[in-house]
Amino acid sequence: MIYSRMAVIGCGLIGSSVIRAARAAGTVGSVAVGDASEAHRAEIEALGYADLVTGDLAEAVADADLVVFAVPVLAMGPAAATVAAALKPGATVTDVGSVKVGVAESLRAALPASVYLVPGHPIAGTEQSGPAAGFAELFRGRWVILTPEADDRSAYRDAVNRLSDFWIALGAQVDIMDAAHHDLVLAVTSHLPHLIAYNIVGTAADMEEVTRAEVMKYSAGGFRDFTRIAASDPTMWRDVFLANRDAVLEVLGRFTEDLQALSRAIRWGEGDKLFDLFTRTRDIRRGIVAAGQESAEPNFGRDRAASGGGPKP
Ligand code: NAP
Repeated sequence: MIYSRMAVIGCGLIGSSVIRAARAAGTVGSVAVGDASEAHRAEIEALGYADLVTGDLAEAVADADLVVFAVPVLAMGPAAATVAAALKPGATVTDVGSVKVGVAESLRAALPASVYLVPGHPIAGTEQSGPAAGFAELFRGRWVILTPEADDRSAYRDAVNRLSDFWIALGAQVDIMDAAHHDLVLAVTSHLPHLIAYNIVGTAADMEEVTRAEVMKYSAGGFRDFTRIAASDPTMWRDVFLANRDAVLEVLGRFTEDLQALSRAIRWGEGDKLFDLFTRTRDIRRGIVAAGQESAEPNFGRDRAASGGGPKP
């Protein structure tokens, strides 16, 4: 056992997966859940993974030596402010938010100095949301990025190492990274692809010459994959783009220039340029497959269709 009591604030896809995985690995003695949604609280109670399920977030964190914030990124700071006075001194506080600089700032501003803040982000998930979509194997073989504060006290280093051990026990691999670098990397690998998916599905839906029925009927593989990504939770993704604005805009600028170059190559019949790019991109795909990261949900023998999950964008 790594923590005697874990509190999870926000128990949807990611929060409920943390609870399931921690229970399965035996890394926590007891589990408390604080969630704003009455319907989700009822689902979590029914799942039977938590010892306490409450809408009172301060009650949830009392006595916890690990507190995991798993709410949408713009809700992290307000949720932390709600629980600040109830946190146990010496507790480790972490989060699973998809953006790190803004979330870390809002958490730090709300939390007392007596707790160790170690922001984190599991690079694992699906386009589903809510507690029923979670599963214990979600983090297996996936990376978790921790972005610790600049704090060289040995007690803080111990807190980082302990949290690392926790994620490793859940089957993940852990990387330590600077928060700003995390936000730039994820802007390229996750945030921009989602923006493109939302945009292309919106464009198809708005094209007057193509009916909605035709979009559904003739949706070929590429478009189908975009619709899956574009079905991701609107609240979560609105918050991601607002919280990671600078990095997303920087990457979007690069992307737009490259798209212009492609458009020019098509206009002028420069097939070699298209061929060269498509060859390079195919190599990247092969590298991802070789690294074992091609599917978000490795097949661990579960019937994913039955549990409502799907591959991660
Ligand atoms: P989710 O399934 O929608 O779960 C979020 C839960 O938090 C919901 O039960 C929600 O209730 C509750 N909640 C929202 N605001 C709250 C508040 N102020 N106080 C208490 N509870 C609150 O979302 P998720 O996909 O698990 O995402 C959670 C976090 O993980 C986000 O920060 C996201 O960036 C990060 N993340 C997501 C993925 C992914 O693939 N989904 C991957 C990695 C990291 P309501 O439904 O009533 O709002």
